This record gives sequence, C-alpha cells and structure tokens, in this order.
Amino acid sequence: MKALVYDGKLSLQQVPDPAPKQGEALIRIRYSSICNTDLEILKGYMGFKGILGHEFVGEVITEKSRFFGKDVVGEINISCGRCYMCQTGRKSHCTNRSVMGIFEHAGAFADYVVLPEKNLHVVPANVELPAAVFTEPLAAALEIFEQTKISPTDNVFIFGAGKLGLLITQVFRLSGCEYTLLDINPDKVEFARGLGLPAKKLNDLQVEERAEICVDCTGSPDGIGIALKHLRPRGKLILKTTVADPAKVDLNQIVMHEFNIIGSRCGVFEPALSLLSQKLVDVEPLITKVFAFDEIEEAFKLAAQPDSINVLIRHKPER
Ligand SMILES: [Zn+2]
Ligand SMILES: [Zn+2]
Repeated sequence: MKALVYDGKLSLQQVPDPAPKQGEALIRIRYSSICNTDLEILKGYMGFKGILGHEFVGEVITEKSRFFGKDVVGEINISCGRCYMCQTGRKSHCTNRSVMGIFEHAGAFADYVVLPEKNLHVVPANVELPAAVFTEPLAAALEIFEQTKISPTDNVFIFGAGKLGLLITQVFRLSGCEYTLLDINPDKVEFARGLGLPAKKLNDLQVEERAEICVDCTGSPDGIGIALKHLRPRGKLILKTTVADPAKVDLNQIVMHEFNIIGSRCGVFEPALSLLSQKLVDVEPLITKVFAFDEIEEAFKLAAQPDSINVLIRHKPER
C-alpha cells in the first residue's frame, strides 16, 4: 500500500499492507486530516518515526469483523486492558499503550490502517465523512468536561483559534458559560467571528481581564504563560498544547494564586459523534482545503501556514 512515512523527512512510500491480528480490524481510509500534533512530530515531538496520521474515517474491510462494511472512526490509544491503569478506568494512560500515528503504531496517512475493534465507533448515517474526521479532536474538546466541573456561571477564555480552539469554543457555547476565544492572528479572530463565535484579538484583552477557566490550545510554548496571566486566583488552567519545545513557566505564581492546572488530552468518542449527528457543532467551515492522498506532501505545506484551520486528505475511493 501507499503510506506517508516520516523517517526524518516526509515521503510517500510503498510499504507492506498491515495485517490485522485477533480482535483487530483492517480499515480502508476514506478521509484523514492533518493535525497540529503531526506538524509537531516533524519537529521532534514524541520522537516518532513511521506512518503518521491519527484523525481519520474509514471503512472496515475485515470480513469477519462485526464492523464489516461500516464507516468507522477510531480511538487512537491502543491499550492492553490488563495493566493497573486499564483496570482502573484510565485506558488512555495504559502503561503498555501505543498511539496510532504518534507512538509505536502505524497511522492513518495510508491506504489501510489496523486498529483493535474495541477502539472503533460507527459513524452515524447523517454525519458526512469529512465531518466525521473531526470526531477525534472534538472528543479531545469534550475531555475538558469529563475532567472538571464547569459551572454555567464560570467565565472562560480560550487561547488559540486553531481547529481545537474553535471546537472547544463551540462546546463551551453549549455550556451556558460566558466565553471568549482569543488569538494573536487577526485573520483567525475574523474567521471565528464569521462562525458566530465571540472572538477577540489577544492584544485587545486588558491586563486586568481574568477568567475562572483558561484553556490553552495555542499550540505554542508561550500559550501557558499568557493564559496564566489572565486566570483568577484558584482558577483552572486547562492545557491542551503539546509542542516539541516545552514551555518555561514561573511556577511561583501557581503557588501564590493557588491555580489548578489540568493537563487534557484525548476524550470520549460517542458524545462527539452525538454532537456531530445533532449538528450542535459546526465543523464543515473548519475545512481549509481537501487534497487527494497523492498530494499529501503539498497538503502538509498548507497545513503549516498560520491561517490554515484543518487540511483534509481524500483517499482513493476503491481498492
Ligand atoms: Zn490530532
Ligand atoms: Zn493497559
């Protein structure tokens, strides 16, 4: 099969087809999407070498699978089910885990991918395939609500109007909170406003303006410091940024202001699919451009541009 391999540089290569083991399914990729994490891997994040890609929708082609012929999305953490973390309900932190396209498991920028069946979720009939590709990042947005109590009386600042920031903001729109999306890039602010989201330029945020909850999804090492400056004492800082270059933060202010810091990563798929199915989150406008799989190297160049939101890859319709 054809796959986008990262081995210090990116290239489309011919590689052997993956073979599913017991409990796994072979999936023919239909759409995939380039995530900021992919771009960070190219800068050294996780030290990953192999087939990239973790946001996808595809059709299960393993005939004996109960998902055979169905379009599915897949949770990216492959857990063992036996370790202490798995047995205490924290399978995304499985001690023996691999992560599709990020850590020791081949990713979705390929004709086929293999995943355990327990990771798969059927895409509801009324969710278009390009929209289904947003399930993984939308689940990551919902993870915030799994991790901490959010009151409708809280005010929230979301820093970073990229794909994840726009999804998180749309989820907060459903929460009843007062919320503002902030970005240094005026074009991204304009774009968010065009979606009906309350967004403003970071420069227009006054020093004294603070929120109970700050979410950093800037994808920049500076994001955490900026977010901390606008957090109320005993407020919650939710960190979504993963970067190759770690941030440098003055920890004294965390002690002084008794801030709560919450690292936040992958989330639950079923509620994400439900939001997409109910059309409560608008994802189609977040698609910057769709490229054919053969043009994926070109697609990576566009995805790295500051104004890109989400670049999708359309894979070949047939085997
Ligand atoms: Zn991602
Ligand atoms: Zn485990």
